[in-house]
Amino acid sequence: MADEDLQGLDEPGLRAEWQRLADRVAAANLAYHQADAPDISDADYDALKRRLAAIEARLPDLAALGPSAQIGAPPSETFAKVRHAQRMLSLENAFTGEDVADFIARVRGFLNLAEAAPLVLTAEPKIDGLSLSLRYEAGRLVLAATRGDGETGENVTANARTIADIPQTLAGAPAVLEVRGEVYMGHADFAALNERQTAAGDKTFANPRNAAAGSLRQLDAAVTAARPLRFFAYSWGEMSTPLGPTQTAAVARLAELGFKVNPLMRRCEGLEALLAAWREIEQGRATLGYDIDGVVYKVDDLALQDRLGFRSTTPRWAIAHKFPAELAWTRLLGIDIQVGRTGALSPVARLQPVTVGGVVVSNATLHNEDYIAGRDAKGSPIRDGKDIRVGDWVQVYRAGDVIPKVADVDLAQRPPEAVAFTFPRLCPECGSEAVREEGDAVRRCTGGLICPAQAIEQLRHFVSRGAFDIEGLGVKQIEMFFADDQLPVKEPADIFTLAARDAASLTRLRNRDGFGEKSAANLFQAIEDRRTIPFARLLFGLGIRHMGEVAAQDVARHFATWAALVESLDHARPAALAHRAADAAEDAERMAAAAEARRPRIAEARRAAMTAAQVTPAAQAAWDDLVGTDGVGPVLALSLSDSFANPQERGAIDRLMAHLTVLPPEARAKVSPVAGKTVVFTGTLERMTRAEAKARAEAMGAKVAGSVSARTDLVVAGPGAGSKAREAEKLGIEILDEDAWLRLIGA
Ligand SMILES: [Zn+2]
Repeated sequence: MADEDLQGLDEPGLRAEWQRLADRVAAANLAYHQADAPDISDADYDALKRRLAAIEARLPDLAALGPSAQIGAPPSETFAKVRHAQRMLSLENAFTGEDVADFIARVRGFLNLAEAAPLVLTAEPKIDGLSLSLRYEAGRLVLAATRGDGETGENVTANARTIADIPQTLAGAPAVLEVRGEVYMGHADFAALNERQTAAGDKTFANPRNAAAGSLRQLDAAVTAARPLRFFAYSWGEMSTPLGPTQTAAVARLAELGFKVNPLMRRCEGLEALLAAWREIEQGRATLGYDIDGVVYKVDDLALQDRLGFRSTTPRWAIAHKFPAELAWTRLLGIDIQVGRTGALSPVARLQPVTVGGVVVSNATLHNEDYIAGRDAKGSPIRDGKDIRVGDWVQVYRAGDVIPKVADVDLAQRPPEAVAFTFPRLCPECGSEAVREEGDAVRRCTGGLICPAQAIEQLRHFVSRGAFDIEGLGVKQIEMFFADDQLPVKEPADIFTLAARDAASLTRLRNRDGFGEKSAANLFQAIEDRRTIPFARLLFGLGIRHMGEVAAQDVARHFATWAALVESLDHARPAALAHRAADAAEDAERMAAAAEARRPRIAEARRAAMTAAQVTPAAQAAWDDLVGTDGVGPVLALSLSDSFANPQERGAIDRLMAHLTVLPPEARAKVSPVAGKTVVFTGTLERMTRAEAKARAEAMGAKVAGSVSARTDLVVAGPGAGSKAREAEKLGIEILDEDAWLRLIGA
């Protein structure tokens, strides 16, 4: 929500926008303070307030009317109201180091401090809880009140008395003393509370702050007593004698009186020291065991605080330097690998729970193995090349509803025993090889049919329209049968044993909900009809990665019989593995070359890998034939080879084949004079584009190839034809010009 667009508004426009914002802020205040259920994020709320302030800076009369003039919300009606003897103020917010520098400059300017004059401030974590004011008279707690709107709060004395951190009596305290601080709930207590709430069937809380607010504002103090609330004292209201000359001394006095005060509070001199404290506290956020949302800076000298005084709702001597709402640091406890429905292996970070933007985050995505290793898909460094290890201190990022992600890592806090993460090469679900194709950031399980993580997706694909297309067996039925105890379908072969298993079963399908005598019989007949299946549909139905309908037809046409395909794949396997080894060698060479800032020697690296693999000429020929098949390249060829070489997946295919008769592909029309011929176009075509020429040739049953070889039957050469035409001449291949070609195909 940028404020620049306000420049374009005239006064009525500004007033209308102000009203809209004021209503939104008022509603958010109500939801936050009374219902203990914020309806917008802190960051959005702060943005609204800033925009409101930007308008009020231009139209000052609005400032007194709207929510900026109030601190919180009017107290709810269920507790007795209490008027604070001294107003409970809120703090101005800073979001950047510049904001803090401005604050210091304002303080110095207001006090007219000489440039060399020291200015000491305190820095302390801003506890993300609920402000509470405790009034002690003659050393006895007589009143506890929430902040409410700053003027009037709620009397929660009975509830506050149940909080162990709040002393009932004070020894040696001023006769009148109002102690102010924050009621909060620790992470562990919050998690346990939510567990108890869940077990009891009660509502759970979104975050510790809501839980603390909801617990303190219970009408029955016995409920509050059962909630593990804590209290930090950090300030004061009315008092009969001062606690000390400085903020530091006064807080130390509160500790002496028996209050818990925050151990991270420190004195800082100058901007750099404040920002260093801020960074350090932010980094330690997740180890505190409770939520903080920023660092509060206060002028330490109380005499200076008095001189600085107050604006309408905020003191001039303090500011809250907020943390970015979406970022938090925490410990990476582990990396799990999840297998998606398409076989993708996704690394998931298991985190020490941390609140990010109002939500407790314990899992975050790590994207892929390159991301963990500190590089992008092209091998260039990300995060300055820092890798991520289990045990590391990591920064978690979360914005809106997106999945939280691990954004950064702090090497200074890496445990000495941390080791680089090894991304698994095997699918954790089925044990199949998980491979990464060239140009793919994701490693995928090759288990296909036999991978439980992919099973439903594979079965859905198997019965889809381009594949087996079994009537009555849609997505819904597949999901039903997959989970079924009586008639489970876990792999394609199970579909073809359904009828027999049903016949042998006591609880027949026809007696089930959603099935009758007729629909069960129809389903079994539809399955029966597919026992005879065209080669291409069967191949497509296996759901092999990259095997589309068109490629399946090409492969079917090339191999003609299923047995021929299987035999060829088995022969080609050693060459397929050598090809993969060559790919890996190429990657390694690229990395090494990049690291050494030299040109990669790719051809050499590949050659060395191929030589080492010692592939037989027969295997190489089978591989070349597969890769050279129309519509098949090395990527599909490898994927096809992997599927058939995976023993479990091969088992699933063989079990399926036991039920099937495969129809050979229909031969192409033989009437065309170019049917079955391999044609190469070269040079400039004048009567049609290259794409059109290719399409027409294929429509006539010809194969169009990109380069001339001994297998080429015909070369169509236009003007400017070069090496391809010469190669054809050398091989004695027939060469036609464009017109002759058009005459030949009868165009
Ligand atoms: Zn798998």
